[in-house]
Amino acid sequence: MIFDYPVPRLERKHGPEGYSAYESYRPWLRDEFVFRCVYCLKREMWGQATAEFELDHFQPQSLVPERALDYLNLVYACRRCNSVKQDQAIADPLILLSSKTVCVMLDGTIVGTSLDSKRLIAQMDLNSPALCRWRVIWMRIVELAKQRDTFLYQQITGFPPDLPNLGVLRPPLNSRPEGLASSWYTMQQKGELPAEY
Ligand SMILES: [Zn+2]
Repeated sequence: MIFDYPVPRLERKHGPEGYSAYESYRPWLRDEFVFRCVYCLKREMWGQATAEFELDHFQPQSLVPERALDYLNLVYACRRCNSVKQDQAIADPLILLSSKTVCVMLDGTIVGTSLDSKRLIAQMDLNSPALCRWRVIWMRIVELAKQRDTFLYQQITGFPPDLPNLGVLRPPLNSRPEGLASSWYTMQQKGELPAEY
């Protein structure tokens, strides 16, 4: 299911540190968040280009400027979700938007199983009529493609063609170099990249 939220992870796999501009973290965040918005699960492959995706400061720069360049304070988000969030202080989407805490129904609504995830869904307006309609449309496109058009199905459920080769990047520090071995680029090189996700 394309709107199944990920299984919650205890910690991130990458740990680049020390860049002087937060945009430098983009390839790491693309890989970390599997090329989709952490809030609504919109995928890079469903849009025009990666430029539609933004690097959201989880703790807003305006409130916590000292974390502006902290990788652990950045999440990968689509433009819509980043603009809805703005400077709200919200709970961690990696914990509260997971397969354990939310479920997307066939009518496109997203249901939270805890008070905290319900609050986050409301703060991010993830049940707006437009977003529910958008989910239904994509579920139907994917289902139709699965039955009728293998190429289209692979395009909209597979990985983007430009997987970042993180191994050649040289951040000033990397506290989790072991994460490189499980980057999607490395998986592709080893012939282990899943056809869809
Ligand atoms: Zn989004």
